[in-house]
Amino acid sequence: MKRKILLNPGPTTTSISVKKALMSEDICHREKDFVKVIEKLRKDLVKIVHGHLDEDVCILFSGSGTINMDVTLNSLLEKDKKILVINNGAYSTRAVEICQYYGLPYYELKLPFDEKIDVNKVKEFLSKHDNISLVYTTHHETGSGVLNDVKAIGEVVHKHDAQFVIDATSSFALVPLNIQEDNIDFLFASAQKGIAAMPGLSFIIGKRKLIEKSIDYPLRSYYTNLYRQYYSFEYANKEMHFTPPTQLIYAASQGVKEYFLEGEENKIKRIKRMHELVLESLKELGFKLYLKEEHLGPLVISVLYPNDANWNFMKIHDYLYDHGFTLFPRPVGDVKAFRIGLLGAIDESDIKAFFTLLKKALITYNIKVPVSY
Ligand SMILES: *Cc1c(COP(=O)(O)O)cnc(C)c1O
Repeated sequence: MKRKILLNPGPTTTSISVKKALMSEDICHREKDFVKVIEKLRKDLVKIVHGHLDEDVCILFSGSGTINMDVTLNSLLEKDKKILVINNGAYSTRAVEICQYYGLPYYELKLPFDEKIDVNKVKEFLSKHDNISLVYTTHHETGSGVLNDVKAIGEVVHKHDAQFVIDATSSFALVPLNIQEDNIDFLFASAQKGIAAMPGLSFIIGKRKLIEKSIDYPLRSYYTNLYRQYYSFEYANKEMHFTPPTQLIYAASQGVKEYFLEGEENKIKRIKRMHELVLESLKELGFKLYLKEEHLGPLVISVLYPNDANWNFMKIHDYLYDHGFTLFPRPVGDVKAFRIGLLGAIDESDIKAFFTLLKKALITYNIKVPVSY
């Protein structure tokens, strides 16, 4: 099998050992042996965000990352209360759509998509609106690369006695997160991003106490109700309510094992080295970034399309793809930019090889190097 370098921001390049973990013995998910695997995985995922197992709990769902958005929004809203979605990107926009589909009462605080959330704007909004019991935002906006300061936002949210939910799908296990200290009540992610395993398994980590409280909230979904799944894990049979994706759970467990083998600190350093190399190499080729440096997170770098009559992103994409490197084939929203994501089991040598190839692609298609705007 050829190793493919995925620089699209998820799913990511996985290690051979994660791929091999899929080839596990057939097993019935209700067997003790499998229950042990699930229990370990849930605990380890809590440990990644430095949670305390008596206070913080991990609930798994089968589905892509969006299932977590659906679960948290529909399950954690008290009767007669409202959600506030702080929206500075494509993924929080999706959360607004989920509120609309469920007919949930919500406010949207729409902020610029190319900047970090301004905490003062959140403060101001919360002081002018009451009845908000749930505040939701995205930690790392994968569409742009903006990394929001969730700790500062959470502090404001808690001053207003609301619960704080963050979408950490593309930041979990990639930037340090501490559910005990960062003013977060619920965060969620899925296996195909930070732990570099396969799509199809998602998880929510949150405060036990608050999930217990949600038993009295209105029921809005059958399959994606948080309390119901929590009950199944914690009280009924230590298992998912319905059939879990067994093979994906083996692969995710291997991804988590490799996360701890590398260690949080080393992983952050690896990402930082790749990030710096990307910025340096882009500069050499003349590329400009979509975000100003002060808003740029470490994980996804959005690069503006150059102004060259010969520029055709899909041709560059196809050239790179044919040589084993994948960029996400579409821009997000209406910004003419492509993204370089540093989420997977890749390192600096892959980034070097990518830029050698990108330069070749530019020359092949007669695009002036360095590129111009
Ligand atoms: C990937 C991602 C999701 C989930 O998307 P799916 O296509 O459902 O996997 C949600 N939020 C963010 C921030 C993401 O990066």
